[in-house]
Amino acid sequence: MPFTEILGQEKAISYLQTLVNKKRVPGALLFYGPDGVGKAKTALEFAKTLNCLDPQARQSGQACGVCASCKAIGQQTHPDVLFADFLYQARRKIKKDFSASGYEEELEKELAKQQHLSVDTIREVAAKSQQKAVGNGYKVMIIDQAQSMQGAAANALLKFIEEPPAKTVWILITNKRSAMLRTILSRCQPLAFAPLSHQHIEQILQDNQLETENPSLCAAYSGGSVSGALKADGALTLLKQAGFNQKGCSAQGPAAVATGLSRTLATGRQEAQAILDVLLMALHQSWLRADKADQHRYMQILKQFENYKRSLSRNVSPALIVETALMSLDGISLPIFDTENAYV
Ligand SMILES: [Zn+2]
Repeated sequence: MPFTEILGQEKAISYLQTLVNKKRVPGALLFYGPDGVGKAKTALEFAKTLNCLDPQARQSGQACGVCASCKAIGQQTHPDVLFADFLYQARRKIKKDFSASGYEEELEKELAKQQHLSVDTIREVAAKSQQKAVGNGYKVMIIDQAQSMQGAAANALLKFIEEPPAKTVWILITNKRSAMLRTILSRCQPLAFAPLSHQHIEQILQDNQLETENPSLCAAYSGGSVSGALKADGALTLLKQAGFNQKGCSAQGPAAVATGLSRTLATGRQEAQAILDVLLMALHQSWLRADKADQHRYMQILKQFENYKRSLSRNVSPALIVETALMSLDGISLPIFDTENAYV
C-alpha cells in the first residue's frame, strides 16, 4: 500500500519522507495514536522506502512497490525487516509445540491468550537487530502494541534502542503512550497519528471491502479508527439482533444481548466493551441534546456506564455487565441507530 493510499496521515508521512530525503533517520521512532488509523501500514511502507531497490524511489521517499525488496516486505519475508506483534509472538510459541496440521486453530487460540509482549520475544527481535543486514538498506525492527511490554521486556529493549547500529531503525507502535516507560519514551522520536475523519473511514471500509451493515453509522461510532468502526458494527449487530430499534430497548433486549456474546472470555469482553462504547457515545449525544430537567438523569447513567467499563477490565462476567448496563437504560429513549444521534 503506497503512502498515497494511507488516508488521513499526510502529516506523519510527510515527516517520514523528509527524514529519508535528508538522510536523518533516527535510531528509534514512536508511532502513537488510536488503533486502526494506519500506524502499522505506515511503518511497513517506511521500511519499504528505506530498502527500495530503486534509488530514485528511495530519494523521493516513495517506495516503488514492485521491486523484490518492496514485495518481500509486503509479504513479511524480508530478512532485514521484522514486524513483532501478538500474532508474531503466538506464531513463535505454536511453532515450537505444534505440527503444521491444525495450525490455524491453535494459532487463533494462542493469539487470544496474548496480553503482553514477552521478554523472550523482545530478546529474539533484539538479537536479530544485531545481525548483519542482508541487503544494502536498513534493518527495520517494528514492535506493535509496545505499551504491552512489562518491566523485564521493556528493560530488555531499552539498551538496544539506545544506540542501535548504523542503518538500524526501531519503530515502536502504541495506542497508549502514557502506559510506556519514560526511559523508553525519552529514547524515541515521537510521531503522532491523528484519528481519521468519518469520510476517510467510510472510504477505507469501501476500498478494503470491509463489509458493515451501515458504513456511515459505524463511522459515526468509530472514534476515528477503522478497527473502531468494525467493533461498532459488531456491537450494533448484536443490539439489533436482540430487538433494539430506533427508540432504544426491547423488553427481552438486555438478556438477549448478553446471551449473544461470545463464550470465549477475551472475545466476549471485547464485544461487551464495544457495546458499552456505542451506548456511551449515544448517551453522551442524548445528554447534549436533553432538556435541563433530563440532563441530570443522563449524567447519572453516563457515570454508571464508566463504572461498568471499569468492571470489564476486572474479573466480572462480560455478559453480566452488559445485561446490567442495558437494564439501567429502562425508560430512556436512546436512538442508537439514528446516524444523526451518533457521536460526531
Ligand atoms: Zn521498491
